[in-house]
Amino acid sequence: MKYVDEFRDGDVARVIAANVAREADARRTYRLMEFCGGHTHAISRYGLKAMLPPNVVMVHGPGCPVCVLPVGRIENAIELARRPGTILCTYADTMRVPASGGLSLMKAKARGADVRMVYSCADAIRLAGEHRGREVVFFAIGFETTTPPTALAIRQAQALGLRNFTVFCNHVLTPAAITHILESPEVREFGTVPIDGFIGPAHVSTVIGSRPYEYFAQEYRRPVVIAGFEPLDVMQAILMLVRQLNEGRAEVENEFTRAVTRDGNPKAKALVADVFEPRPTFEWRGLGEVPYSALRIRPAYEAFDAEARFGVVYRPVPDHKACECGAILRGVKKPADCKVFGTVCTPDNPIGACMVSSEGACAAHYAYGRFTPAPVVREATP
Ligand code: SF4
Repeated sequence: MKYVDEFRDGDVARVIAANVAREADARRTYRLMEFCGGHTHAISRYGLKAMLPPNVVMVHGPGCPVCVLPVGRIENAIELARRPGTILCTYADTMRVPASGGLSLMKAKARGADVRMVYSCADAIRLAGEHRGREVVFFAIGFETTTPPTALAIRQAQALGLRNFTVFCNHVLTPAAITHILESPEVREFGTVPIDGFIGPAHVSTVIGSRPYEYFAQEYRRPVVIAGFEPLDVMQAILMLVRQLNEGRAEVENEFTRAVTRDGNPKAKALVADVFEPRPTFEWRGLGEVPYSALRIRPAYEAFDAEARFGVVYRPVPDHKACECGAILRGVKKPADCKVFGTVCTPDNPIGACMVSSEGACAAHYAYGRFTPAPVVREATP
């Protein structure tokens, strides 16, 4: 498949890995955080870690949208779904994230709440049109990649006069989270690891561009390489980071030039800026309260804001006491450090959010990392 197979070529991966091994200084350690769950998935699926020298250490980041959603927000969504006459729409993974008391949106559905899995917010708009006598709430989650479609849905609902459509907005912002990881005293208090450089998001950066990362690359002297989600993208980004660190540079470089520009997508950014504004603070699983790290619906579109219409009140709820998702999202622990990994907690019975989505570190490690220390990069098809 064009633009896929050529980025999964095992021979090329081995050549890049050999360059990493040759150029990495044996006297130091390179701790590189892959921010996105998509990168975590690629590293596990294609066995990239096994191809790296031991002093190049990959650290999972908090870039899995399902994983960073705190339990309290899932419980808010369950409360909304249980309102009489309400249809709550959301993406499939979100339905399986555990809340307290063994509940989830999926289980709430089994107990009678009308929760519908949708592929996009356009499906929720369609449902609102078909059920004018009921309240249709779209439970919106995700980073900058999924925010423009939600903004478009709100504008479309306004144009169609859909008074029964609202959005429970939980969209979060990548640069604020990276800055928080580097800066926050709370994160230091929770315990974190030193990070020498970042593999920057792929899809998020197609929207926001590479410019937003320039501030903290300069301010915190940490290099960033934006990379695609294929194994060669990730391997090449690792080599570029090793080179920057060897040369004492802290720049933003773009490996994913086939999709990312410095300024991103101006239409999408304008749409988002019209509909949403920053929240002063938002709780992330694993990072705690992060200032200006999420979006809320602007007053001009308040008629479509589920929080305003239904008086949603956020209450923090702790994770399951056995779950180490918070520490994993901060890069402090690995999935196998969790006592219930692969036994009590499996993709069929997730105890924490990191086991739900394929982008979650625990799910990726469960699917690809448990028994296969050897490299498994696929050969390109002829
Ligand atoms: S294995 Fe399950 S319980 Fe443990 S950290 Fe991962 S998601 Fe949480």
